[in-house]
Amino acid sequence: MSEVNVKEWVKQVVKQEEIDKYLVNGEDFIDETEINSHLSATVNPDKQKVRDILQKSLSIERLEPDETATLLNVTDGELWKEMYATGLEVKQKVYDNRIVFFAPLYCGNLCVNNCAYCGFRKENSEEKRRVLTMDEVIDEAKAVISEGHKRMIVVFGEHPKTDADYIAQTIETVYGVRVKARNGYGSIRRVNINAAPMSIEDLRKLHEVGIGTYQVFQETYHKPTYAVVHPANTLKGNYRWRLYALHRAMDAGIDDVAIGALVGVYDWRFDVMGLLYHTIDLERQFGIGPHTISFPRMTPASGAELSTKSNHLVNDADFKKLVTVLRLSVPYSGLIITAREQAEIKRDVIMVGCTQTDASTKIGIGGYTEALKALSLAQTTAQVKEKQQFTLGDTRSLDEVIREIAEMGMITSFCTAGYRCGRTGDKIMGLLKGCVEGRFCKLNAVLTFREYLDDYASPATKEIGEMIIQKELDEIKQIPFFQKGNLLQTFLKFYEQVSSGERDVFI
Ligand code: SAM
Ligand code: SF4
Repeated sequence: MSEVNVKEWVKQVVKQEEIDKYLVNGEDFIDETEINSHLSATVNPDKQKVRDILQKSLSIERLEPDETATLLNVTDGELWKEMYATGLEVKQKVYDNRIVFFAPLYCGNLCVNNCAYCGFRKENSEEKRRVLTMDEVIDEAKAVISEGHKRMIVVFGEHPKTDADYIAQTIETVYGVRVKARNGYGSIRRVNINAAPMSIEDLRKLHEVGIGTYQVFQETYHKPTYAVVHPANTLKGNYRWRLYALHRAMDAGIDDVAIGALVGVYDWRFDVMGLLYHTIDLERQFGIGPHTISFPRMTPASGAELSTKSNHLVNDADFKKLVTVLRLSVPYSGLIITAREQAEIKRDVIMVGCTQTDASTKIGIGGYTEALKALSLAQTTAQVKEKQQFTLGDTRSLDEVIREIAEMGMITSFCTAGYRCGRTGDKIMGLLKGCVEGRFCKLNAVLTFREYLDDYASPATKEIGEMIIQKELDEIKQIPFFQKGNLLQTFLKFYEQVSSGERDVFI
């Protein structure tokens, strides 16, 4: 594709009317002065006030900006300990003790943007550019499925070669891949997308092919900083086009959306406030908040200076605080911690409320297939030198991470039932707020973990996994909610079916 054609494509992407329709009196929902005044008005908060806010989180109510600002201003170490414990309690109430796993698939690193922190930025001449063919997408999906994954997030740079049509084709291709497992076949049952903001018309194409969650990170909500790190002459330089990406998704019928901020671009407290305001505006305009919130922490990327030199890089202690305040502020949204982080910090933030993580992640384009080839040449994965968007902190296999989660007393879930039973959007939000979804998911977590243990687990993981499953079965039999109707009997019948080799059975 010629440079001229790329430029022409870029010119037609932004539809101004698809920004303006969401503004109120010409203003968007991020008011820097208002955020800063909340943050400065709540310094040195009173202990009792903080404890009252924690009670509100425990009743699974979203916090208001002044309450989130109050939590962000806590300095007392003992009070933070209470907040960590409450974060976990909130998570247990809504999501029980399960962790959902997914694998990212990077399909292309061509990009028309020039984000100062990303290895895919167009001026990074060190990056070798390519876009996967559909045959390569199949090979990548096969490698991911062979590990036992059932959920995938497909990631793209912004470029006409990876436009909405290409993304839609990718989704369909991934859904079509089947790989023989110990029992039956494995497949990806839910394809989520992390891609640039699109028009409503393009988003409808993704809705039609069965997109799971549509994820767009604002990176930073602080407009002056946003303008510095995303040059004005690039598509991503348009702050509002990005700010309303998920509003447009809702209008296109995609009611399952995910927000995020790139931690380390600007002051983390300001961006936690930004994520809260984003949640509030989605709820105000559509009645549905974000299904998940992400907080990728900036890690070193080749050819992207800001990734190591930012003045706002966040240390582990503050990162844990950030996750805790998000957990307490939006109690019903999932929180995602990725393999960008080291194993130790992942463990730490799971214990304050994260609900989803990835494992066995490869972020080079074609990285899963290359890793398999390398293994067949008897090399280790560590020896596979990848050109990638940023650096990974946790390169362990899915089996290893699942074993660790089990050792922490938690159950791995590959459940994709909610989405396929119509439990999305306002329905899932209602169920999450009422702590009901967690109960369905408890059952589906057991069914999908049973599949994993029988189809993919190593002997060591199977051994500890059996203990977790037994503990879950014992609990399920005791919970009054499951005694209603014939839920328990149905579940036990399904469990028997899965144990004897039937696959993709869900409630
Ligand atoms: N190109 C699309 C976009 O920008 O929305 C989606 C793909 S981009 C590869 C996915 C996310 O990676 C970005 O939204 C950003 O938050 C994150 N990211 C970029 N550079 C990073 C870095 N150096 N460390 C960690 N995460 C990074
Ligand atoms: Fe491109 Fe996204 Fe990377 Fe920015 S973050 S350079 S838009 S791939």
